[in-house]
Amino acid sequence: MNIEPIKAFTDNYIWAIVNKANKSLWIVDPGDAKPVIDYIAKHNLNLCGILITHHHEDHCGGVAELQAKYSVPVYGPKHSNILATHVVTDKQTIVLPECNLSFEVRWIPGHTLEHIAYYCATEQLLFCGDTLFSAGCGRVFEGTMQQMVESLQILASLPDETRIYCAHEYTLKNLEFAKYLEPKNEAITRQVAFVQCLQGKPSVPTTLALEKKINPFLRTDVGTVITAAQSQIGTSLSEGVQVFSAIREWKNRF
Ligand code: ZN
Ligand code: FE
Repeated sequence: MNIEPIKAFTDNYIWAIVNKANKSLWIVDPGDAKPVIDYIAKHNLNLCGILITHHHEDHCGGVAELQAKYSVPVYGPKHSNILATHVVTDKQTIVLPECNLSFEVRWIPGHTLEHIAYYCATEQLLFCGDTLFSAGCGRVFEGTMQQMVESLQILASLPDETRIYCAHEYTLKNLEFAKYLEPKNEAITRQVAFVQCLQGKPSVPTTLALEKKINPFLRTDVGTVITAAQSQIGTSLSEGVQVFSAIREWKNRF
């Protein structure tokens, strides 16, 4: 079983879960059908199903066309934009029989209200859409800051080895902000150098272990992050949601 990125738009990743032995393919968040259809033709694969994390167009915009062409199951949360054939609920197990994999659904509202993640415990992998990025997190469009903090806590409680397949290549920009917040954090400095060396190759998947060292949104209980947030806002803040809100809003303007 392989997981490969299919690039879409300017910085989206549509993730391809491929079983080369039987030529099966599942895809996650096809915002556009064309790159998926090209990928299927190039590698001679059979599309078996689609997983959707949330209702934004750059994640589910390709569903209708793929459904019309391949008529496969589409798993996703309840939302009129998603066109799910199988509406999922929190903690539900989804089996991908052709890939010998199963995923558990995790409810992680904040970026949107119905946003979910797919977690595979046996392989320790996570598809988290626009909630957690490498060195950053999604904007809080529909939910509350409190909801986003709780959602990130759910993801942060997974095993450190979990490989995180996020849906955008935002890493370098996120790291700029992270470095500004924590200029003396050596893990951030090392990661900036590492990502620069990739020269446009994907910087993801990342791991939870790494994110705990470099991602300010998972470090809202760390002294340096709290101090940076407080000096930006000009008042004292308690760790957790107050610090998170301060740095999320700061990042929006950064
Ligand atoms: Zn989104
Ligand atoms: Fe997105």
